[in-house]
Amino acid sequence: MNLNERLMAKPGTTPDLTRLNPGATPGVKGKKAAAGLLKRNIDRLNELQYLLYAENKHAVLVVLQAMDAAGKDGTIRHVMAGLNPQGCSVTPFKVPSDEERDHDFLWRIHKAAPRIGEFGIFNRSHYEDVLVVRVHSLVPPEVWSKRYEQINAFEKLLADNGVTILKFFLHISKEEQKRRFRKRLEDPRKHWKLSQKDFDERAFWEDYMQAYTEALARCSTPWAPWYIIPSDRKWYRNLAVSQIIVEVLEQLDMQFPPPGMDVSRFRLE
Ligand code: ADP
Repeated sequence: MNLNERLMAKPGTTPDLTRLNPGATPGVKGKKAAAGLLKRNIDRLNELQYLLYAENKHAVLVVLQAMDAAGKDGTIRHVMAGLNPQGCSVTPFKVPSDEERDHDFLWRIHKAAPRIGEFGIFNRSHYEDVLVVRVHSLVPPEVWSKRYEQINAFEKLLADNGVTILKFFLHISKEEQKRRFRKRLEDPRKHWKLSQKDFDERAFWEDYMQAYTEALARCSTPWAPWYIIPSDRKWYRNLAVSQIIVEVLEQLDMQFPPPGMDVSRFRLE
C-alpha cells in the first residue's frame, strides 16, 4: 500500500474535486483490516517521533484543512494518539486577533512552526487566508491572489530549514456533513460544537470547493505536497493520514546520532 503517491495532489495539476469520491477507500480492503493497520501506524509513529527527537535534524509539520465536521479534531485525536506530548504541539488557527491582523498573514503561522526535532500540527492554517477570506471577500482579490506564491515561498523557506511539510485536505461530501451536523443536533453532549454560522456556511459550499481547488492546484509543491483524503469514512481518513505520515517519515532515513564518546569506555560502578 503506497498512499503517499496515490493520494497526493500532483504538483502542477488541478484536481477535480467533483470527481473525487469522498466515500472511496483506495488501497484499503475494509474497516476490519484498517483497524490493525492504524494501530501499527500509531506505534510506528511513536518510534519515528523518538528518532526525530534523537537525530535532531528534521521537524515535521502536519497541516489539516477541511470543511466543518470533516474530522480535523478526530484525526488529531486518533492519529496522533501515540505521540509523546513532549515534542509535539497542536496549534488551532481561529479568526485572527487584532494584533494578528495588524501583521502580514504569515506572522502568526511562522511563530507556530515546529522546532527541529519536533512535531507540529496545524488545525487550520495559513490556507484560511485563501479560503474563508476569499469566499467571504474579507480582503480584495488583489490581496488574496498574491498569497499563493507567498505561501509557496514561505513553505520553501521552512522546508529548506529542515521542516518536512505534509498538508491534508479532508474531503467530505456535502451530504455527509449534513449527516454529521444532524447527529450533533441529536446528541446533547455535542451541542456545544454547533453554531448557526457553521450551518450557514453550507450555502457557500461550491465557492469553498473552488477556493480549495485553486489552493490544491497552486500550492501542492514537491517541498510541501497536498494530500486529498477521502473522508466520508472516518476509519479510512485516520488510516490514510497515519499511513502517509509514516511513509514520508520512513523516507527521511533518520538515524540515531553516534554517542559523544566511545561507549565501551563508560564505567558504571
Ligand atoms: P474549528 O471549526 O476549527 O473547530 P472554530 O469553530 O473556532 O474552530 O472556527 C474557527 C474559525 O476561524 C473558522 O470559521 C475559520 O474559518 C476562521 N478563521 C481561521 N483563520 C482565519 C483567517 N485567517 N481569517 C478569517 N477567519 C479565519
